[in-house]
Amino acid sequence: MRRSLAHTARQLSRSVHGRPLSQCRVAGARWLSSDAGHQWSTPLAKQLAEAITTTGPIPVASYMRQCLTSDLGGYYTSTAPLDRDQFGAKGDFVTSPEISQVFGELVGIWIVAEWIAQGRKSEGVYLMEMGPGRGTLMDDVLRTIHNFPPLAKAIEAVYLVEASASLRQAQHKLLCGDNALRETELGHESTSKHSPHLRIIWAEDLRLVPKEADKMPFIVAHEFFDALPIHIFQAHPNQAPNTIQTPTGPIEARQRSAPSSQWREMLVSPKPPHRLKEGEEEFELSLSRTATPHSMYLPEISPRYQRIRDIQDATIEISPESQSYVRDLAIRLGGSNPAPPSTSKSNALPGRKAATSTAEEPLIKPEPSGAALIIDYGPPDTIPANTLRGIQAHARVSPFSSPGIVDLSADVDFLALAETAIESSPGVEVHGPASQAAFLTAMGIEERAAQLIKRALEKERSAGGKKGEVTELVKRVESGWKRLVDRGPQGMGRLYQVMAILPHTPPKEGEPRRRPVGFGGDVSV
Ligand code: SAH
Repeated sequence: MRRSLAHTARQLSRSVHGRPLSQCRVAGARWLSSDAGHQWSTPLAKQLAEAITTTGPIPVASYMRQCLTSDLGGYYTSTAPLDRDQFGAKGDFVTSPEISQVFGELVGIWIVAEWIAQGRKSEGVYLMEMGPGRGTLMDDVLRTIHNFPPLAKAIEAVYLVEASASLRQAQHKLLCGDNALRETELGHESTSKHSPHLRIIWAEDLRLVPKEADKMPFIVAHEFFDALPIHIFQAHPNQAPNTIQTPTGPIEARQRSAPSSQWREMLVSPKPPHRLKEGEEEFELSLSRTATPHSMYLPEISPRYQRIRDIQDATIEISPESQSYVRDLAIRLGGSNPAPPSTSKSNALPGRKAATSTAEEPLIKPEPSGAALIIDYGPPDTIPANTLRGIQAHARVSPFSSPGIVDLSADVDFLALAETAIESSPGVEVHGPASQAAFLTAMGIEERAAQLIKRALEKERSAGGKKGEVTELVKRVESGWKRLVDRGPQGMGRLYQVMAILPHTPPKEGEPRRRPVGFGGDVSV
């Protein structure tokens, strides 16, 4: 017990999880705490409560990290059998690639268009997906790319960054069929069902995927960033006195040196025993009374946060993990090109800062290349606030109930990602975010759906298809594409945003800036 408690306490202060060690979800069982007599909803709830009693209240990010990817039955890392599938009608949520094959096909076409726009490289291309779920999106992307043999041939490998062992199995089955799954130094590897030459490689962490200057990566992250932990801060009036004590008595301070507000962090702790009731949420949020290590630097990293600090009770959510992922992606595309301060001006592209970091090897990428497409929910241009949510069986539930069984997510701060990408690499630029409706419409979703329907009807007419099946397919395609571009207040077309990170190409004099397809641009095939 002591050992596992210390282990959780240690994990609470870490951002990267280890491999799943144990299978802990047992339906209907509850876990009795050794000291208070409360029966906790999950073993993770019990262990978190005991660890917090030892370490003190923890940041929301640490709570989220444990709930999502803890060794001890995290939402994604539980080794419980796949009968508790998170996706689909019987699971907790449905995602766009699961709604319609057209979604993945258009992402595939977007990649083809970018590959063409960037000069049709014949080697050194790789695909990468962050958090591929069941693998449906990558399956649709690969099927689409298969119709463009010069690109299909140029792809050396497909990397899948996946924390969940059970989802890795599902992805392997879909993408590789019966081809064997081998354990490797990096993670796991198999070959595509489409081609014995195409390696499919799994890594639990992005940092394990090699970064090479001569490679052209095409990266997709769909509903990945919303699953990364956030810190929550609230503006709190600064109690710094307005007067200064002098030997002759207090005097009014002429100018306040401290700002009138400061950011305080929201922390998670178990409810006190007298308020713990079975079947109710077991953890709660409270505002830290003092500064925390995170409140002292995270809200200082961007003027966006400083601008609203003096608004009473302003709340902001910051995801440093998302920022570090996007930094890694930007460097893969544009290189980090750090330069010593004396020469930084000459090395940076005009008008851009050179990224510097002492801790990592620089990636010098003479020719920025590739693209990243980030699709997720979140406001297009404001800082998310109060968006931490629990999701279970398609309903919103408290994020503080049944840790590890309830899915947790938060809105993605697209502008923070854009800012980080641009600051991390002098070789990239950002397009969007555009609403999913605008992006998919520009990519031709309606035409593609019509094509699918026409093909199904033709097949039926030539006596190949069964009437009932075709009617079912037509209905599914129709309702699917319309749902993806629904611009209603709660529609997916409005709530989801699409943002692209691309190589920075300064426009030639007198010419407009190049726009990628889906973001106002076009490409000739
Ligand atoms: N992109 C898929 C799945 C979205 S759910 C779809 O749209 O259908 C989130 C995915 O990210 C899951 O595959 C989950 O296992 C993975 N994931 C969550 N946190 C992760 C992390 N920290 N590192 C790697 N993968 C993670």
